[in-house]
Amino acid sequence: MRSFLGFKTQQLLRGVFSSSTAVRWRAAQTRLLCSSSPDEGKRPPSMLRHLTSKLKATGPISVAEFMREVLTNPVTGYYVRNNMLGPDGDFITSPEISQIFGELLGVWILSEWMGAGRPKQLQLVELGPGKGSLASDVLRVFSQLQSVLCEASVSVHLVEVSPALSRLQAQTLTGGSSREADAEDELVYRRGETAAGLPVSWYRRLDDVPTGFSIFIAHEFFDALPIHKFQRTEKGWREVMVDIDPEKSDQLRFVVTPSPTLASSTFVHADERRDHVEVCAEGGVIVQQLARRIVEDGGAALIADYGHEGTKTDTFRGFKGHRLHDVLASPGSADLTADVDFSYLRRTAGGGVACLGPVTQRTFLKNMGIDTRMQKYVSSPDV
Ligand code: SAH
Repeated sequence: MRSFLGFKTQQLLRGVFSSSTAVRWRAAQTRLLCSSSPDEGKRPPSMLRHLTSKLKATGPISVAEFMREVLTNPVTGYYVRNNMLGPDGDFITSPEISQIFGELLGVWILSEWMGAGRPKQLQLVELGPGKGSLASDVLRVFSQLQSVLCEASVSVHLVEVSPALSRLQAQTLTGGSSREADAEDELVYRRGETAAGLPVSWYRRLDDVPTGFSIFIAHEFFDALPIHKFQRTEKGWREVMVDIDPEKSDQLRFVVTPSPTLASSTFVHADERRDHVEVCAEGGVIVQQLARRIVEDGGAALIADYGHEGTKTDTFRGFKGHRLHDVLASPGSADLTADVDFSYLRRTAGGGVACLGPVTQRTFLKNMGIDTRMQKYVSSPDV
């Protein structure tokens, strides 16, 4: 949640950008650009079958449970089965567009570490690392600024729910030299080492990451966490649920609960003015864990995402082949996402940590010196 520029940052920038290698532009589109969807209709509807049997057995489920099942079910979940990032996937993210993004975050991380008095231990913890590109760009900055890090003991900790993506991350970061844990229940389910000899460990949950001074990065992670949806009605706040469409047994529909649920009574603020609200309780829990760790062990967290300040209403949407996709259609075949409510995350973080921002990505990157980096690239693209 800290995104300010320490006074040592400019020196660090010079160090990185005078010795940097040529810039790779990974792709040139954003998440909203359109192209045809190559695998439309090809995937077996196993997730839909799973959901309809569940709904027949239990009745309607909350949108949060629907999202959790669709995205992270250990067998058929979207993140568990797919490599969705990049031009051939469903969406693309900043670290996949250009290495400059990760480089600037690397500078921010070092600046935070220096501002904290250069602790002997530095844990880089990334939540939802995708293809591992961001961590790889950050680590390149670390090697270029080895003289700054000196004797600090640096380790990398990745929180990733998808075994398939963890293999991709391992390939990017450790060149395939990683090993899976022998037993399924081990907290660290994969271990490896970067070319520079830094240990890299993979975990399913943030709780499993060891304590110690840490810088946490979450880029487009919080928007993938399950949200509850609530609708204002004449009778008060009601929760939006997912059910089987009674007219078409192989289709899903949204329904509103006839009476309040525990979630609608707990999560909606008494003075709420909007008519529709999305609450990511799981995101709140993770922010509380981050805040507690930062208070107890020192560190900082940077959360970068699509978001708002408690002003937006219905932002729940799907992406497939870089196109908007109906969230209830062929579940498991498309990414599901909802804008992050930063005002909610700030409230749940509590008073023990300083929360700065949110600022736009443009402001953050400009403050971090992206113009200097770009000038360097334009004047001599080969350095
Ligand atoms: N940070 C990357 C990837 C974003 S996609 C980028 O910006 O390119 C979301 C990532 O979070 C994926 O790696 C996905 O597998 C992971 N993820 C989603 N839900 C998760 C959860 N509940 N726990 C851990 N990882 C999760």
